[in-house]
Amino acid sequence: MQDKKSPKRNSHRLWKRMTLGGLIFCLCVAIGAIGQLALAKVLPHERSAAPTTTIKTETTKPGKGAQEPAPTTQTPPEQPSSEPKMPRPRPYLVANKHLTNLRSSNPATPIYDRYTLTERTEKGLPLALPYIEPYTEQKVAYLTFDDGPDLVNTPKILDILKEQDVPATFYVLGCRAQENPELIQRIFNEGHAIGNHSYDHNYDTLYSSPNDFLWQILYTDEILHGILGVRPLIVRAPGGTSSMFTDEYWTMLDENGYAIHDWNVCTNDATQEKPNAARQLEYVDVQTNCPKNGNAAIVLMHCTADKTETVKALPEIIRLLKQKGYTFGVITPMTPQPY
Ligand SMILES: [Zn+2]
Repeated sequence: MQDKKSPKRNSHRLWKRMTLGGLIFCLCVAIGAIGQLALAKVLPHERSAAPTTTIKTETTKPGKGAQEPAPTTQTPPEQPSSEPKMPRPRPYLVANKHLTNLRSSNPATPIYDRYTLTERTEKGLPLALPYIEPYTEQKVAYLTFDDGPDLVNTPKILDILKEQDVPATFYVLGCRAQENPELIQRIFNEGHAIGNHSYDHNYDTLYSSPNDFLWQILYTDEILHGILGVRPLIVRAPGGTSSMFTDEYWTMLDENGYAIHDWNVCTNDATQEKPNAARQLEYVDVQTNCPKNGNAAIVLMHCTADKTETVKALPEIIRLLKQKGYTFGVITPMTPQPY
């Protein structure tokens, strides 16, 4: 009998269960929606901050400068899995206000300044770099690529460096940074150092006077700061300081806090000879046998559109340097001078 009454009762029970289930379901949906709303409120801010949040502030033995606060490390926030992942910036060091933290324990950590020179001047902050003890603890090769970024060869070089897990330094031109800001961002994100190589590389205007040179450096700094939110402290003079600089240029750049590095190993890839990849490798081999380049081999290469042989030579150059016992670093104010 119970079975006969049961359909109605059962359907009543079923309805109750469905209602209860529906209520629980609605409650879950509501909680989920609130959670998502809260997340959405946080994430846009975090995402926009991501390129500049892997800031590793390291302290160093402060020379004569003021004691700075203890080191702090910020970790970039996780990105939601549903969205395409942006490359996570690799750690870099940001100069503190008084420029007393510019010596890192890792020669592969790029160093930047969050203030442009104009901002430092306006805030009354120091401009000139203090004495920084050069890094000589290990045998380090500093691969440097000048005159880019170039749309064709710079990405190929970046791909090789990524594959080999080797950092490098790109001395870029302001005019090319303006044309290819996404490449500047990629170089930065992939943990390489970006240096200032003037705005247009035009010797006539660049070397008219120290002030003309400085103007190009400042202008390029502003462009890079506009893209990255930081600017380099490292400069390479087009043509090299030995042939282009007088004492006035050195004084002016020292007073304004730039670290300038030429090179001591050269693939000659920008000379009339236009050496092929095998010849470039030979140049690196011979010049790294020179004892004075033993602990700091600063290798000059270029990444402009016609440097296909450089791209070809690069994997072998890296292999050779590894075989000779070099680790790889990026140019910073603590990089030893090449001669
Ligand atoms: Zn150049």
